[in-house]
Amino acid sequence: MTVDLIQQTAPIRQVAIVGGTHGNELIGVYLVKLFEQSPELIQRPSFQNRILLANPEAVAIGRRYVEQDLNRCFGLDELSRAPDTYETRRAQAIYQALKSDIEPPVELILDLHSTTANMGLTLILSSYHPFNLRLAAYLTSLNPLIKIYCWPQSSHSPFLRSLCALGCAIEVGPIAQGVLNATLFQQTQILITQILDYIDAFNQGQMPVSPKQVTLYQAVELVDYPRNQQGEIQAMIHPQLQNRDYEPLQPNQPMFVTFSGQTILYRGNSVVYPVFINEAAYYEKHIAMCLTQKQTVLIEPV
Ligand SMILES: [Zn+2]
Repeated sequence: MTVDLIQQTAPIRQVAIVGGTHGNELIGVYLVKLFEQSPELIQRPSFQNRILLANPEAVAIGRRYVEQDLNRCFGLDELSRAPDTYETRRAQAIYQALKSDIEPPVELILDLHSTTANMGLTLILSSYHPFNLRLAAYLTSLNPLIKIYCWPQSSHSPFLRSLCALGCAIEVGPIAQGVLNATLFQQTQILITQILDYIDAFNQGQMPVSPKQVTLYQAVELVDYPRNQQGEIQAMIHPQLQNRDYEPLQPNQPMFVTFSGQTILYRGNSVVYPVFINEAAYYEKHIAMCLTQKQTVLIEPV
Protein backbone atom coordinates (compact mmCIF):
# COMPACT_ATOMS: atom_id res chain seq x y z
CA MET A 1 0.00 0.00 0.00
CA THR A 2 1.06 3.56 -0.46
CA VAL A 3 1.40 6.05 2.35
CA ASP A 4 1.15 9.80 2.53
CA LEU A 5 4.74 10.95 2.44
CA ILE A 6 4.53 14.23 4.29
CA GLN A 7 7.84 14.57 6.07
CA GLN A 8 8.11 15.74 9.65
CA THR A 9 11.45 17.46 9.96
CA ALA A 10 10.85 20.15 12.57
CA PRO A 11 10.99 19.20 16.24
CA ILE A 12 7.72 18.49 18.03
CA ARG A 13 7.34 21.20 20.66
CA GLN A 14 3.95 20.54 22.22
CA VAL A 15 2.39 17.17 23.10
CA ALA A 16 -1.05 16.50 24.63
CA ILE A 17 -1.91 13.48 26.75
CA VAL A 18 -5.70 13.15 26.97
CA GLY A 19 -7.72 10.82 29.20
CA GLY A 20 -11.40 10.54 29.97
CA THR A 21 -12.57 11.25 26.44
CA HIS A 22 -14.95 8.48 27.44
CA GLY A 23 -15.90 8.92 31.10
CA ASN A 24 -16.12 5.22 31.96
CA GLU A 25 -12.68 4.27 30.58
CA LEU A 26 -10.82 4.61 33.84
CA ILE A 27 -7.25 3.73 32.87
CA GLY A 28 -6.92 6.98 30.92
CA VAL A 29 -8.75 8.94 33.61
CA TYR A 30 -6.39 7.81 36.37
CA LEU A 31 -3.23 8.03 34.26
CA VAL A 32 -4.08 11.68 33.61
CA LYS A 33 -4.61 12.22 37.35
CA LEU A 34 -1.25 10.52 38.05
CA PHE A 35 0.53 12.74 35.50
CA GLU A 36 -1.09 15.85 36.99
CA GLN A 37 0.21 14.87 40.44
CA SER A 38 3.63 13.74 39.21
CA PRO A 39 4.42 15.76 36.06
CA GLU A 40 8.06 14.65 36.16
CA LEU A 41 6.87 11.28 34.83
CA ILE A 42 6.10 12.83 31.45
CA GLN A 43 8.47 15.79 31.31
CA ARG A 44 11.19 15.62 28.68
CA PRO A 45 13.83 18.27 27.84
CA SER A 46 12.80 18.98 24.25
CA PHE A 47 9.02 19.54 24.40
CA GLN A 48 6.14 20.65 26.60
CA ASN A 49 3.17 18.55 27.67
CA ARG A 50 -0.50 19.37 28.06
CA ILE A 51 -2.52 17.00 30.24
CA LEU A 52 -6.27 17.02 29.73
CA LEU A 53 -9.27 15.27 31.22
CA ALA A 54 -11.50 15.56 28.17
CA ASN A 55 -15.01 14.86 29.51
CA PRO A 56 -15.08 15.62 33.27
CA GLU A 57 -18.90 15.52 33.54
CA ALA A 58 -18.99 12.02 32.03
CA VAL A 59 -16.20 10.94 34.39
CA ALA A 60 -18.21 12.34 37.33
CA ILE A 61 -21.26 10.26 36.46
CA GLY A 62 -19.22 7.21 35.38
CA ARG A 63 -20.64 7.06 31.88
CA ARG A 64 -19.18 7.16 28.38
CA TYR A 65 -20.76 10.57 27.71
CA VAL A 66 -23.42 12.96 28.99
CA GLU A 67 -25.41 13.74 25.81
CA GLN A 68 -23.42 12.34 22.90
CA ASP A 69 -20.12 10.60 22.18
CA LEU A 70 -17.41 13.26 22.59
CA ASN A 71 -15.09 11.26 20.34
CA ARG A 72 -17.43 11.91 17.41
CA CYS A 73 -17.56 15.71 17.94
CA PHE A 74 -14.29 16.84 16.35
CA GLY A 75 -15.36 17.06 12.71
CA LEU A 76 -15.21 20.42 10.97
CA ASP A 77 -18.98 20.81 11.19
CA GLU A 78 -19.20 20.13 14.94
CA LEU A 79 -16.27 22.46 15.65
CA SER A 80 -17.63 25.34 13.58
CA ARG A 81 -21.36 25.48 14.35
CA ALA A 82 -23.00 26.76 17.55
CA PRO A 83 -22.60 23.99 20.15
CA ASP A 84 -25.87 22.36 21.19
CA THR A 85 -24.77 19.66 23.64
CA TYR A 86 -22.36 19.38 26.55
CA GLU A 87 -20.00 17.35 24.36
CA THR A 88 -19.98 19.76 21.40
CA ARG A 89 -19.18 22.56 23.89
CA ARG A 90 -16.37 20.41 25.32
CA ALA A 91 -15.04 19.63 21.82
CA GLN A 92 -14.80 23.32 20.98
CA ALA A 93 -13.18 24.10 24.35
CA ILE A 94 -10.65 21.30 23.82
CA TYR A 95 -9.88 22.55 20.31
CA GLN A 96 -9.24 26.02 21.76
CA ALA A 97 -7.11 24.68 24.60
CA LEU A 98 -4.94 22.45 22.42
CA LYS A 99 -4.79 24.24 19.09
CA SER A 100 -5.64 27.94 19.15
CA ASP A 101 -5.02 29.31 22.66
CA ILE A 102 -1.45 28.13 23.15
CA GLU A 103 1.83 28.74 21.40
CA PRO A 104 3.09 26.55 19.96
CA PRO A 105 -0.13 24.60 19.35
CA VAL A 106 -0.23 20.91 20.16
CA GLU A 107 1.32 18.89 17.34
CA LEU A 108 0.96 15.35 18.70
CA ILE A 109 -1.91 13.83 20.71
CA LEU A 110 -2.00 10.64 22.77
CA ASP A 111 -5.68 9.90 23.50
CA LEU A 112 -6.12 7.17 26.14
CA HIS A 113 -8.97 4.69 25.78
CA SER A 114 -9.93 1.19 26.89
CA THR A 115 -12.14 -1.46 25.35
CA THR A 116 -14.16 -4.44 26.50
CA ALA A 117 -12.76 -6.32 23.48
CA ASN A 118 -9.66 -8.48 23.76
CA MET A 119 -7.43 -6.07 21.86
CA GLY A 120 -4.40 -6.06 24.14
CA LEU A 121 -2.32 -2.95 23.53
CA THR A 122 -3.55 -1.30 20.35
CA LEU A 123 -2.41 1.94 18.73
CA ILE A 124 -4.91 3.66 16.44
CA LEU A 125 -2.71 5.93 14.36
CA SER A 126 -3.97 9.46 13.72
CA SER A 127 -2.67 9.31 10.13
CA TYR A 128 -0.25 7.44 7.89
CA HIS A 129 2.34 10.14 8.54
CA PRO A 130 5.84 8.59 8.26
CA PHE A 131 6.58 9.69 11.83
CA ASN A 132 3.62 7.66 13.10
CA LEU A 133 4.61 4.63 11.02
CA ARG A 134 8.20 4.75 12.27
CA LEU A 135 6.98 5.16 15.83
CA ALA A 136 4.63 2.19 15.39
CA ALA A 137 7.41 0.04 13.93
CA TYR A 138 9.71 0.99 16.80
CA LEU A 139 7.12 0.24 19.49
CA THR A 140 6.20 -3.12 17.98
CA SER A 141 9.91 -3.99 17.90
CA LEU A 142 10.04 -3.32 21.66
CA ASN A 143 6.84 -5.28 22.31
CA PRO A 144 5.61 -7.58 19.53
CA LEU A 145 2.24 -7.86 21.27
CA ILE A 146 1.40 -4.25 20.36
CA LYS A 147 -1.03 -4.08 17.44
CA ILE A 148 -1.48 -1.20 15.01
CA TYR A 149 -5.03 -0.52 13.87
CA CYS A 150 -5.86 2.01 11.16
CA TRP A 151 -9.22 3.56 10.52
CA PRO A 152 -9.70 5.23 7.15
CA GLN A 153 -9.43 8.84 8.11
CA SER A 154 -9.59 12.22 6.45
CA SER A 155 -8.77 15.62 7.90
CA HIS A 156 -12.50 15.93 8.66
CA SER A 157 -12.66 12.90 10.97
CA PRO A 158 -14.73 13.33 14.14
CA PHE A 159 -12.16 11.80 16.50
CA LEU A 160 -10.24 13.82 19.08
CA ARG A 161 -6.97 12.30 17.86
CA SER A 162 -7.61 13.76 14.39
CA LEU A 163 -6.90 17.29 15.70
CA CYS A 164 -3.25 16.42 14.94
CA ALA A 165 -1.68 14.36 12.15
CA LEU A 166 0.87 13.08 14.65
CA GLY A 167 0.06 10.68 17.46
CA CYS A 168 -2.51 8.02 18.16
CA ALA A 169 -5.27 6.75 20.36
CA ILE A 170 -4.11 4.04 22.75
CA GLU A 171 -6.82 1.40 23.12
CA VAL A 172 -6.28 -1.30 25.77
CA GLY A 173 -8.37 -4.28 26.75
CA PRO A 174 -10.18 -6.38 27.61
CA ILE A 175 -11.51 -4.39 30.53
CA ALA A 176 -15.07 -3.72 31.65
CA GLN A 177 -16.42 -0.19 31.58
CA GLY A 178 -15.96 1.69 34.86
CA VAL A 179 -13.23 -0.68 36.04
CA LEU A 180 -9.48 -0.40 36.61
CA ASN A 181 -6.92 -3.11 35.90
CA ALA A 182 -3.41 -2.68 37.31
CA THR A 183 -1.64 -4.72 34.62
CA LEU A 184 -3.23 -2.80 31.74
CA PHE A 185 -2.72 0.50 33.62
CA GLN A 186 1.00 -0.18 34.02
CA GLN A 187 1.39 -1.45 30.44
CA THR A 188 -0.28 1.71 29.16
CA GLN A 189 2.02 3.87 31.28
CA ILE A 190 5.08 2.05 29.89
CA LEU A 191 3.79 2.60 26.35
CA ILE A 192 3.34 6.34 27.00
CA THR A 193 6.86 6.53 28.47
CA GLN A 194 8.30 4.79 25.39
CA ILE A 195 6.44 7.18 23.06
CA LEU A 196 7.59 10.28 24.98
CA ASP A 197 11.20 9.00 24.96
CA TYR A 198 10.90 8.43 21.20
CA ILE A 199 9.61 11.97 20.59
CA ASP A 200 12.46 13.38 22.69
CA ALA A 201 15.03 11.34 20.77
CA PHE A 202 13.47 12.47 17.46
CA ASN A 203 13.66 16.11 18.53
CA GLN A 204 17.33 15.69 19.38
CA GLY A 205 18.15 13.99 16.08
CA GLN A 206 18.74 10.65 17.78
CA MET A 207 15.69 8.72 16.64
CA PRO A 208 16.21 5.04 17.40
CA VAL A 209 16.49 2.68 14.47
CA SER A 210 13.08 1.28 13.49
CA PRO A 211 12.36 -1.92 11.61
CA LYS A 212 11.97 -1.40 7.86
CA GLN A 213 8.32 -2.45 7.89
CA VAL A 214 5.31 -2.53 10.13
CA THR A 215 2.15 -4.64 10.19
CA LEU A 216 -1.10 -2.66 10.12
CA TYR A 217 -4.66 -3.87 10.60
CA GLN A 218 -6.64 -1.68 8.21
CA ALA A 219 -10.37 -1.38 8.90
CA VAL A 220 -12.43 -2.39 5.87
CA GLU A 221 -15.96 -3.06 7.15
CA LEU A 222 -18.18 -2.58 10.18
CA VAL A 223 -20.47 -5.53 10.94
CA ASP A 224 -23.74 -5.11 12.86
CA TYR A 225 -25.53 -7.83 14.83
CA PRO A 226 -28.27 -9.65 12.96
CA ARG A 227 -31.50 -7.76 13.74
CA ASN A 228 -35.20 -8.23 13.15
CA GLN A 229 -37.47 -5.66 11.52
CA GLN A 230 -37.93 -3.90 14.87
CA GLY A 231 -34.18 -3.48 15.15
CA GLU A 232 -33.79 -5.98 17.99
CA ILE A 233 -30.60 -8.04 18.12
CA GLN A 234 -31.20 -11.63 17.01
CA ALA A 235 -27.82 -13.21 17.72
CA MET A 236 -24.67 -13.00 19.85
CA ILE A 237 -20.99 -13.18 19.02
CA HIS A 238 -20.24 -16.87 18.42
CA PRO A 239 -18.20 -18.46 21.24
CA GLN A 240 -15.55 -19.48 18.69
CA LEU A 241 -15.07 -15.81 17.76
CA GLN A 242 -15.32 -14.21 21.22
CA ASN A 243 -11.93 -12.85 22.41
CA ARG A 244 -10.31 -13.68 19.04
CA ASP A 245 -9.49 -10.08 18.12
CA TYR A 246 -6.70 -9.85 15.50
CA GLU A 247 -6.98 -13.56 14.69
CA PRO A 248 -7.85 -14.66 11.14
CA LEU A 249 -11.51 -15.29 10.37
CA GLN A 250 -11.90 -17.49 7.29
CA PRO A 251 -14.94 -17.56 4.98
CA ASN A 252 -17.63 -19.90 6.37
CA GLN A 253 -16.28 -19.84 9.93
CA PRO A 254 -18.78 -19.07 12.75
CA MET A 255 -19.51 -15.41 13.40
CA PHE A 256 -22.76 -15.25 15.41
CA VAL A 257 -25.05 -17.66 17.22
CA THR A 258 -28.79 -16.99 17.58
CA PHE A 259 -30.56 -17.24 20.94
CA SER A 260 -31.96 -20.59 19.81
CA GLY A 261 -28.47 -21.89 19.02
CA GLN A 262 -28.26 -21.52 15.24
CA THR A 263 -24.77 -20.64 13.98
CA ILE A 264 -24.39 -17.80 11.47
CA LEU A 265 -21.25 -17.99 9.33
CA TYR A 266 -18.96 -15.29 8.00
CA ARG A 267 -19.89 -15.11 4.32
CA GLY A 268 -17.08 -12.91 3.00
CA ASN A 269 -14.80 -14.00 0.19
CA SER A 270 -11.47 -13.56 1.90
CA VAL A 271 -9.82 -13.89 5.30
CA VAL A 272 -10.29 -10.92 7.63
CA TYR A 273 -9.04 -10.02 11.11
CA PRO A 274 -11.92 -8.82 13.31
CA VAL A 275 -11.30 -6.31 16.12
CA PHE A 276 -13.56 -4.56 18.64
CA ILE A 277 -15.41 -7.88 18.88
CA ASN A 278 -18.36 -7.46 21.26
CA GLU A 279 -17.28 -3.95 22.36
CA ALA A 280 -19.91 -2.87 24.90
CA ALA A 281 -19.99 0.77 23.78
CA TYR A 282 -20.68 -0.20 20.18
CA TYR A 283 -24.04 -1.93 20.71
CA GLU A 284 -25.72 1.48 20.42
CA LYS A 285 -23.67 2.22 17.31
CA HIS A 286 -24.87 -1.02 15.68
CA ILE A 287 -21.35 -2.42 15.47
CA ALA A 288 -20.68 -6.01 16.53
CA MET A 289 -17.10 -5.96 15.27
CA CYS A 290 -14.82 -4.23 12.81
CA LEU A 291 -13.27 -6.34 10.06
CA THR A 292 -9.70 -5.50 9.14
CA GLN A 293 -7.16 -6.59 6.56
CA LYS A 294 -3.62 -7.31 7.66
CA GLN A 295 -1.11 -5.32 5.67
CA THR A 296 2.65 -4.91 5.74
CA VAL A 297 3.81 -1.36 5.05
CA LEU A 298 7.37 -0.56 4.05
CA ILE A 299 8.77 2.44 5.85
CA GLU A 300 10.59 5.18 3.99
CA PRO A 301 14.11 5.86 5.23
CA VAL A 302 14.54 9.19 7.02
ZN1 LIG B 1 -12.93 5.15 24.36
